[in-house]
Amino acid sequence: MRVLFATSEAYPLIKTGGLADVSGALPKAISHLKQFKGDIRILIPGYSAVLSKLKSPQTVANIVALGHACSLITGKMPDSGLTVIAIQNAHLYERPGGPYSDELGQDWVDNALRFGVLSRIASLLCSKNSPLLDWQPDLIQCNDWQTGLAPAYMKLIDKSTTKSILSIHNLAFQGCFDASWLKPLELPAAHFQINGFEYFKQISFLKAGIFYADKLSTVSPTYAQEIQTSKCGFGMEGLLKTRSSDLTGIVNGIDTQEWNPASDVHLIKHYSNNRITGKKAIKHALQQQLGLQMDANAPLLGVVSRLTYQKGLDLLPEMMPKLIKHGCQFAILGSGDKVLEAHFSALEERYPAQVSMNTGYHEHLSHNIMAGCDMFIMPSRFEPCGLNQLYGLAYGTPPIVSLTGGLADSVCDTNEMSLKNNTATGFVVKNVNSASLLVTINRAINYWKDKKTWRKIQSNGMQRDISWDSSAIDYLALYEKTRSNN
Ligand code: ADP
Repeated sequence: MRVLFATSEAYPLIKTGGLADVSGALPKAISHLKQFKGDIRILIPGYSAVLSKLKSPQTVANIVALGHACSLITGKMPDSGLTVIAIQNAHLYERPGGPYSDELGQDWVDNALRFGVLSRIASLLCSKNSPLLDWQPDLIQCNDWQTGLAPAYMKLIDKSTTKSILSIHNLAFQGCFDASWLKPLELPAAHFQINGFEYFKQISFLKAGIFYADKLSTVSPTYAQEIQTSKCGFGMEGLLKTRSSDLTGIVNGIDTQEWNPASDVHLIKHYSNNRITGKKAIKHALQQQLGLQMDANAPLLGVVSRLTYQKGLDLLPEMMPKLIKHGCQFAILGSGDKVLEAHFSALEERYPAQVSMNTGYHEHLSHNIMAGCDMFIMPSRFEPCGLNQLYGLAYGTPPIVSLTGGLADSVCDTNEMSLKNNTATGFVVKNVNSASLLVTINRAINYWKDKKTWRKIQSNGMQRDISWDSSAIDYLALYEKTRSNN
């Protein structure tokens, strides 16, 4: 089976969030499955970071897509050695700033074109006249809106026989652009309608993918249900309901080469469920590094997140002084909402020994927060899957989460019953509001003070198999099903 995995980011080449983690880990996990007899290749825009990190790059084809001359460069992933096909066009992709926005955080004004080209080339690679003459995929897995137009091009223009899956990692991002992009995107105007890629008078890349892909997947069973309701469907619930029988929810795993406390290259000490003492030393070092009071008896709460409404962290600043008064410390790493960043920074200024706020993107610090903290806070309003709560489980840092999407599917609340049957792994806030979150954090701290019980909660989480192995098997089953048209 030849699979093309089309994505706008993949770790370790380029990362802004969870999609990169999935794109880095899932193809690798599938390729390692004994039962996978095939070849999986990653298609990605040739951002400067991607081109500089690719191993053994080689130009293999030149191609014009949407009027833009591109080169296809194949190379190897630095970690897994999987084949990557990077699309090189300096004007489109080699810019300072991020994959989606400039250095000031403003979306690139030509994102429709940049990801239109990615989708167009994905479709061309799946056509009979593929520019890679020796390799035509049997199946393409598209990821999120950035590759959502590929199934539309495949069905409407290239009449491809390759089967397609659209994986939705976050329905909130829909890739909507003005109708004036129809022509530059070379989309047939006849399909700019409700039964096509039109969405409230705009072109929606994500809707195109949902409408035209053969199968759909999303990143947890609960989220697969939630997106078919008006609460979490972001206007797409009607269409998703009509495609219900083609929609599967598969929980993400974690890349255990990158995220394993027993071998994590970012940590000064390693630890495991059987020998957890190293975690204490990491907490001590983290407190020192962040300028927090070096107190083993202060509960240290961690946050690593995009700061957006979705993540529910706007509920935190109001209650932090109450928790700080009782000796809590906070290690926060996150950027996004400038007002929220400023709130956390103000708290850091007011309580320098108890609050550390870091903005920007820091892989090293994120691993150390995950390992050094006692618990991890993630009260998302919605969460397709979420990775940080999974890292929290693996690192013996029980997560405090809300009851939604992948959080509901991966964290089991601590109570008498779940402690008795060894399923307690964290703390669940039923309603996302300040009062409930405060009650839940206090409940977690009370358990934390009881060291024996806490070890049990940590141990339950650390023993859970959250590697990609079982999810990769589920994706392979989805690949087979899609290919055989069932
Ligand atoms: P989302 O994809 O919605 O942002 P996830 O929990 O699925 O949320 O994944 C977020 C990923 O990005 C995790 O690997 C997390 O550690 C990482 N991350 C988020 N913000 C930062 C940051 N400021 N620095 C380093 N890593 C971050």
